[in-house]
Amino acid sequence: MSTSKHKSTIWSHFEISTLDNSKATCLYCKENVSRGTTSKSYNTSNLWIHMKRHHNSELDTASTSKTTTQKTKRDEEGGLQPQPKKTNNFVRDNR
Ligand SMILES: [Zn+2]
Repeated sequence: MSTSKHKSTIWSHFEISTLDNSKATCLYCKENVSRGTTSKSYNTSNLWIHMKRHHNSELDTASTSKTTTQKTKRDEEGGLQPQPKKTNNFVRDNR
């Protein structure tokens, strides 16, 4: 189900410019943001910076995965008290 390349969620806010492949167009303000100089150095860091700077509210609504995990500690104290063994002392007179 998963493709080889992880698709970043940034692409729900940007789309690659049809004119310049090295740039991504912001879907909100239609600004072209550079993705890097070469195709190998393409990254989404500039796009994230643009989003946080100009459309931070859009990012907040996108990430609604707030998971608060509460760990329940279960302390089981084994109250194992050593039971005193009752030994019956038979006094046998084996003489
Ligand atoms: Zn923008």
